[in-house]
Amino acid sequence: MIRQVVVLGGGSAGLLAALSLKTHLPQLAVRVVLSREIGIIGVGEGSTADLPNHLHGFLRIDPADFHQRARPTWKLGVHFEWGPRPSFNYTFTKTFIGEAEGLPRLLGYYAWDDCDSLDLNSALMHEGKAFKRLPNGAPFVARNLAYHMENADFVAALEHYAIASGVVFTEGKVHAVERGDAGIAALTLESREKVTADLFVDASGFRSELLGRALGEPFESFADALFCDRAVAGGWERTTEPVLPYTRAETMDAGWAWQIEHERHVNRGYVFSSAFVSDDEAEAEFRRENPKVQKTRLVKFRSGHHPRSWVQNVVALGNSGGFVEPLEATALFVISNACRALVVALADSECDPTPTLRGTYNRTVACMWEEIRDFLAIHYRYNTRLDTPFWQHCRRDTALHGAERIVAYYEENGPSTAFALELLTPETSIFRLEGFYALLIGQRVPHRRVRPLTAAEQQTLSRLRAANTAEARAGFDVTESLAVVRGPYWSWTPGFYQT
Ligand SMILES: Cc1cc2nc3c(=O)[nH]c(=O)nc-3n(C[C@H](O)[C@H](O)[C@H](O)COP(=O)(O)OP(=O)(O)OC[C@H]3O[C@@H](n4cnc5c(N)ncnc54)[C@H](O)[C@@H]3O)c2cc1C
Repeated sequence: MIRQVVVLGGGSAGLLAALSLKTHLPQLAVRVVLSREIGIIGVGEGSTADLPNHLHGFLRIDPADFHQRARPTWKLGVHFEWGPRPSFNYTFTKTFIGEAEGLPRLLGYYAWDDCDSLDLNSALMHEGKAFKRLPNGAPFVARNLAYHMENADFVAALEHYAIASGVVFTEGKVHAVERGDAGIAALTLESREKVTADLFVDASGFRSELLGRALGEPFESFADALFCDRAVAGGWERTTEPVLPYTRAETMDAGWAWQIEHERHVNRGYVFSSAFVSDDEAEAEFRRENPKVQKTRLVKFRSGHHPRSWVQNVVALGNSGGFVEPLEATALFVISNACRALVVALADSECDPTPTLRGTYNRTVACMWEEIRDFLAIHYRYNTRLDTPFWQHCRRDTALHGAERIVAYYEENGPSTAFALELLTPETSIFRLEGFYALLIGQRVPHRRVRPLTAAEQQTLSRLRAANTAEARAGFDVTESLAVVRGPYWSWTPGFYQT
């Protein structure tokens, strides 16, 4: 029976775990052990559209207070400078599998020549706007949006909420780990204090102190699909640049560069493969592209996961359980979903989890990692923008794994959703066919249903794009929207975010 939980780590994974457990299972004693000397990773600023719902729905964090503390900006999707088109937008809405009056097929069928502004969010991204304007003059703040944040601001906000909810904090570095029949018996801190618990959440980041080091649980590498293993990160203080409502992903010689938007900073980073470029060459290319970049830092990582992230009385969450490079900013997604699954597992078992329940939890989390790997593989396999040795290697050697079926289906049938449930494994797909088709169409991967549009179809599409563009242009940009939601006349509708 689990009564006491110790969370090792005070980064976003540890704090989201502590908050999730304390909010939904208040009878548990939850203690976070962290070392400020080791610190947090300090990168990881983009999310998917799941995060605002997790924070404000599942964790019941007041959005108004969160906007004051963590100061997020909104992300409508990813703007890819990728493939043969100048760029394309991947939104969190139904841009490619949506429908429009007068067009018998899904919008993706008509997107071969031009895939811009097929729906409102795509048009908002195109116009640099965050929200449409309602008839009453207010921005229409939607739920299907993600956040951009500074990792340190996010972690500070989560720490505040965790303390308020009754989570106890102990500062200290783990010096030794004692094994026992249940898995881990105790942690000894450098102060010699011994910390015991019934369940240990390993949120110690890439160090994976408990699952990886102490229990020696095997790690499965994703190196046959994802070749990048380092990032050089940097940025500059914003001056006149507008705050973009999306993440930029720009193709680079041996990888890609992100641009993530904060109110006061522009954050950039170059994710690259050390097999194709040295750290110094990557830094030089990064600085050539971004002359305003000030200080940089190098982060090394490996893509892959522990297929069993819950072993005996240890559950690994965050970078200690798995990591893939941040092209789709999915780490916080996996953390939030794993936290919800852990709460379900403990609540369902009345805090006495069985081996089959742990096994099912492990499959659930492992499936998320595998689908993310497969989705990212499509980004690498089909990006024809550059002909450098790195990109040649990606086009030739990226293993598609589970995405193979979806690509084969798309190549023969175009962006069809006729057998969506059969195609998507698991059924609870993260990206769904919309995501896969956005990347395939965006990169102009050929399919057999490509044909010239009729005059009538072209007219209908022109009218659709014009209407979306007009609505987007009249909308609010990020800076205007932030002023509104932080101002005196704005209130968040209770229940707005899904639990
Ligand atoms: C280049 C890069 C870009 C990224 N971009 C994104 C993104 O856009 N979106 C996204 O969702 N994710 C991104 N991530 C992932 C991001 O790092 C994670 O989402 C997230 O911050 C989780 O980190 P963590 O809590 O697992 O680890 P950390 O932040 O590293 O926290 C680990 C904690 O464990 C503690 N600890 C470790 N060892 C000990 C010890 N022995 N004793 C005591 N305490 C200890 C540390 O002090 C710290 O508190 C990115 C990662 C990288 C590398």
